[in-house]
Amino acid sequence: MKIHEYQGKEILRKFGVTVPRGIPCMSVEEAVKAAETLGGPVWVVKAQIHAGGRGKGGGVKVAKTLEQVKEYADAIMGMQLVTHQTGPEGQKVRRLLVEEGADIKKELYVSMVTDRISQRVVLMASSEGGMDIEEVAASHPEKIHHIAIDPTAGLQDAEADDISRKIGVPEGSIEDARVQLKGLYKAFMETDASLAEINPLIVTGSGKIIALDAKFNFDSNALFRQPEIVAYRDLDEEDPAEIEASKFDLAYISLDGNIGCLVNGAGLAMATMDTIKLFGGEPANFLDVGGGATAEKVTEAFKIMLKNPGLKAILVNIFGGIMRCDVIAEGVITASKAVSLKVPLVVRMKGTNEEIGKKMLADSGLPIISADTMEEAAQKVVAAAAEFAAKK
Ligand code: ADP
Ligand code: MG
Repeated sequence: MKIHEYQGKEILRKFGVTVPRGIPCMSVEEAVKAAETLGGPVWVVKAQIHAGGRGKGGGVKVAKTLEQVKEYADAIMGMQLVTHQTGPEGQKVRRLLVEEGADIKKELYVSMVTDRISQRVVLMASSEGGMDIEEVAASHPEKIHHIAIDPTAGLQDAEADDISRKIGVPEGSIEDARVQLKGLYKAFMETDASLAEINPLIVTGSGKIIALDAKFNFDSNALFRQPEIVAYRDLDEEDPAEIEASKFDLAYISLDGNIGCLVNGAGLAMATMDTIKLFGGEPANFLDVGGGATAEKVTEAFKIMLKNPGLKAILVNIFGGIMRCDVIAEGVITASKAVSLKVPLVVRMKGTNEEIGKKMLADSGLPIISADTMEEAAQKVVAAAAEFAAKK
């Protein structure tokens, strides 16, 4: 789950990280009022969307007068902000953050991520913070420093100081940077984050260390014990298909391709997408209906997939263990009729009650293409999608 910058800064502040004073706003009037409340002489008007790269996309503006605050708030609020993280269609701006302008002497980069290789939380830091960090990572990887943090000891003072020196924090600000890094680590751990990034972390003219941006991702599997994080959820920023799917307890993720996948089990779902790609197709979604899916759940899953106007075919790939193939067949038949399915449907089922399920599909009179192996299923669905696309 993702949150907005202003919410991320609220979290950071709670854990002792220094952030600028700022006020979130839902309208241009609120933005002007916020600037008045904060006082001058410089304000920054910032688009709040769940994507980075806002500065480059025109979503972050420095204002020197209240008139400028109004002008920029007017321009940014409601705009369709396109950044390298939003995709070409962009994201509509519905919230702003107005904050005090900081006196930037140097922009640094720091972040925490869970690293699967070292199985630890890794602190990454660079002297080259700001809007071009992706470029730095690609062309100068040596400028990015890492520390894998021992989970029993936590981030040590010496580690924090060492990495701060490596990224050019001035000697007089090392202690301040230590407070910020330890605060970031604590925030990361205690909120069950999977990513916490401050870019830029700045050194001010007077040597203070301040977090000017905040980006958090949280582990969805831990949200049950993070009610304060759940309260930050902004459904406007989420994919409507994914929200709909979560209501039915379906693990669904929208992708860019045109072949819908309905699978039971996350591992099989991944393998199915890989196999589709192997034969030149592109999956439209990841969908795990889980072990105990009912016919109703399968119907909802079909409805969600079919909302995608680019869908050209569907592959149902089921391993019947606890889940019986006849139950899936019943769901597929009900759903296909309920949604008056137009796109080709390939079904592959293996396991418990496979023969009964296959017979039900064959007897249904629906134009279902059946397949026996994964390879065959993937080949058939890729071909069916291409044929359907060509016909239209
Ligand atoms: P994004 O990463 O989405 O582009 P940031 O919050 O990092 O958005 O803002 C982009 C740039 O704008 C920063 O690198 C910084 O140079 C400038 N900036 C952001 N907030 C402030 C602020 N409060 N005061 C001065 N400059 C700021
Ligand atoms: Mg940033």
